[in-house]
Amino acid sequence: MSLPQKFLDLLPFSEEEKLRLIDGLQSDPVISIRKNPFKQNDLFENEEKVVWSKHGKYIQKRPNFTGDPLFHAGTYYAQEASSMFLEQVLEAIDLSNKVVLDLCAAPGGKSTLINACLPKSGLLIANEVVKSRSWILKENLDKWGSSNVIVTHNDPVDFEQFLGFFNVVLVDAPCSGEGMFRKDKNAINEWSEKNVDLCCKRQKRILADIIPTLTEGGVLIYSTCTFNDKENLENLLWLQENYEVENFSFKIPCNEGIIEVNAGGLKGYQFLPGLTKGEGFFLSAMRVYGGRGKYKVPKRIRKLRLNEWEGNSNLFINNDNKNYIINESIHNFPEQFEDILKSVLWDLNPIKIGCEIGQEIKGKIKYSHELSFSNELKKEAFDIVEVSKEEAIKYLQKKDLISVPEIKSWGLISYRKQPLGWVKKVGNRLNNYYPKVFRIRKDFIGD
Ligand code: SAM
Repeated sequence: MSLPQKFLDLLPFSEEEKLRLIDGLQSDPVISIRKNPFKQNDLFENEEKVVWSKHGKYIQKRPNFTGDPLFHAGTYYAQEASSMFLEQVLEAIDLSNKVVLDLCAAPGGKSTLINACLPKSGLLIANEVVKSRSWILKENLDKWGSSNVIVTHNDPVDFEQFLGFFNVVLVDAPCSGEGMFRKDKNAINEWSEKNVDLCCKRQKRILADIIPTLTEGGVLIYSTCTFNDKENLENLLWLQENYEVENFSFKIPCNEGIIEVNAGGLKGYQFLPGLTKGEGFFLSAMRVYGGRGKYKVPKRIRKLRLNEWEGNSNLFINNDNKNYIINESIHNFPEQFEDILKSVLWDLNPIKIGCEIGQEIKGKIKYSHELSFSNELKKEAFDIVEVSKEEAIKYLQKKDLISVPEIKSWGLISYRKQPLGWVKKVGNRLNNYYPKVFRIRKDFIGD
């Protein structure tokens, strides 16, 4: 593997660390997943744990994720191990009744991790500026199955109204992607110092846009998957020069080869392949002070009334949420965050609000796909159609099932007790309601 000399020059590490990194970049990538703690499954029980994550596991060989119905059911997320370190920061914050913004969130690795760490009384707003990627983010959070989530598709600058609003903001910044050199060899060819400089400017712009949205003393978490000085340490120094920030300390599991760096008092944690078991990753957390005002309700549209749906109250267990009718769809969402929901509807472009139940058409409800994944769905309220792996794959391919089950109307297709989506019996026919956009295309029957 030949690495650009300029890339090597920009590395702020000792000669030994550099050599270990170069070695690490030439070895095979490590494969890991994180289990969804809200879904029951006994998968990966015997696999090695990721030290800095409760539900993270290394797996020996890359499985055929697309051919695994349990992957489609949201029982686990394929996430590289170093990124799971974010959990250590989240564990050090009391997230009860707190609002967390994940600003650069697609495809959703860190959002699903944040959600796993959030108590029910907390709310996650996961945002993505690139439209196509925002739908992937929504899909992954739908499958994760929690209702204390909003997904928005906005530019960071669109959050300018939200002064002093979020208790925690994660900026997992778009970066030059050096941490991906091992997984994606093209990333090496695409690397240039010019691009590093561009990324660096963009990161500062994103940070400047979003810092005023933090509450006084709120926690900013900044992360990248790069190694170079400019996108990591220099940005920390820039934050220090321009804002009132203070290092946020949290426990780190020692002896795992994590390099702790210090940028004028702010600490950063660097993960290098070759030193740690995972890909390249950098993270720093800080408290931000210097209050810059409060969210102002826009005058124009002050009167936003959210109507409550009076329909079936028997859909969920352990769920005190309200069912809101928004643009003809019914959404199950925590009432405690109703004001925040209004602000989001006023100022942002939400593409997921809590858990969408469905639409009521002429007194009949058409259930939404995301409802089938809800961790709080009262499954007894529906006919469950437990299927084999072969039938599960057929369902995910949007093909007809081999046998038509004895159900009256709506049924939940379930594989090893994990719902995959809806079917509906109409006469003697069974309609497959798996969304066409998600259908798996190749023939994945068998392993
Ligand atoms: N947090 C994600 C995860 O863990 O799955 C990965 C995020 S990736 C490192 C950075 C994201 O920032 C990408 O989804 C990218 O589309 C988005 N992005 C690109 N340009 C941006 C900008 N100017 N402002 C905000 N986000 C941007």
